[in-house]
Amino acid sequence: MVFFVKIKINLIQLSVIPLLPLFHKFNRAFFENSLVEDNQPLIKVRWSDNRLKTTAGFYKKRVIDGVIYSEIVLSKPILEKLSIVEIQSTLCHEMIHAWIDRILKINEIHGPIFKKKMEEINNIQDVFEINIRHDFPVLRRDFKFKGRCIKCGNVYFYRRRMFNLSCKKCCNTYFRGVWSKSCLIVFENI
Ligand SMILES: [Zn+2]
Ligand SMILES: [Zn+2]
Repeated sequence: MVFFVKIKINLIQLSVIPLLPLFHKFNRAFFENSLVEDNQPLIKVRWSDNRLKTTAGFYKKRVIDGVIYSEIVLSKPILEKLSIVEIQSTLCHEMIHAWIDRILKINEIHGPIFKKKMEEINNIQDVFEINIRHDFPVLRRDFKFKGRCIKCGNVYFYRRRMFNLSCKKCCNTYFRGVWSKSCLIVFENI
């Protein structure tokens, strides 16, 4: 008798970065380790298949027989074309939703608690910036250029190429709101 062992290869994970290390990193840095219990994430984190094109990511929860199942799904087709900065900001955005729901147990979407946490995270690091919108790359389909700040690495989207443009976030953070060439935006085609 021959047994066939079916090996399931998760092709989705091969072309995009693994999300779990990022989840653990953010959980420790921004959520006081509250999203992990007994070394297990309270929320499942995964990439979508190729069909999720309407949003960059979402958080959802289901309760089955009293057991809570919650997960964060990030859009592979949208985010694989963008930089690590967008993946980080989208994951962190959804982690705030998960934290409000699972830890604070408050029913809120983009209300004052969300905004306060978002600002707190945006202020203590300058690798990425969380935005209120989930669907930022979708709405930016008509943008032809991508500009990257040479100082903080943040990526912004533009309809036309501009010269001597500086990163507003860095100008505000490091140069008291004054234009500086040390945080110029370098343009590239999308
Ligand atoms: Zn949201
Ligand atoms: Zn910058």
